[in-house]
Amino acid sequence: MAKPMSARTFLKILKDEGLRVEEVGDWRDHNRNSAGSWGPVHGVMVHHTATEGAERTVEICREGRSDLPGPLCHGVITKDGTVHLVGCGRANHAGLGDDEVLRAVIAERALPPENEARADGNRYFYGFECENLGDGDDPWPDEQIDAVARAAAAICRHHGWSARSVIGHLEWQPGKTDPRGFTMKALRERVAERLK
Ligand SMILES: [Zn+2]
Repeated sequence: MAKPMSARTFLKILKDEGLRVEEVGDWRDHNRNSAGSWGPVHGVMVHHTATEGAERTVEICREGRSDLPGPLCHGVITKDGTVHLVGCGRANHAGLGDDEVLRAVIAERALPPENEARADGNRYFYGFECENLGDGDDPWPDEQIDAVARAAAAICRHHGWSARSVIGHLEWQPGKTDPRGFTMKALRERVAERLK
């Protein structure tokens, strides 16, 4: 059970982890809190955007789409490894997922297969959208993967979580494929290495 970080703390822990951070617009007050609860927080969720172009990607994640209002995450991690902060509070990134997965994340146990879509992920997870087409061909530059690991580690460090609190969207919601192009196991190993 953890209380969500304030915008000020979120910005600080990311910078303290050595990340290059861009603050986008009114990100500190940009959220979906009118649509539901935010917190307690239990973990970090990683996504790919299925878009290309840093500027456009950040814009979509901030504004949302016609069928899904933004913010679509808290931070957008572009290919150059910059974290663009677009939201603070509830964000439309996780959707409904598996409550058994949620229990495993809270207990920091190995994840069961995701086969239900009934727990409100937007309430419980920080979210990072990462610029990648998600077609299996689009490369993930090392500076980008390094930034994803740093951002996830920064949050885990702050809340006293292990790398087991970091999951991919594909581990949460049946039918999701993101992030594609690296394994969550490998990412968690990088996070664990940073947390040593
Ligand atoms: Zn996703």
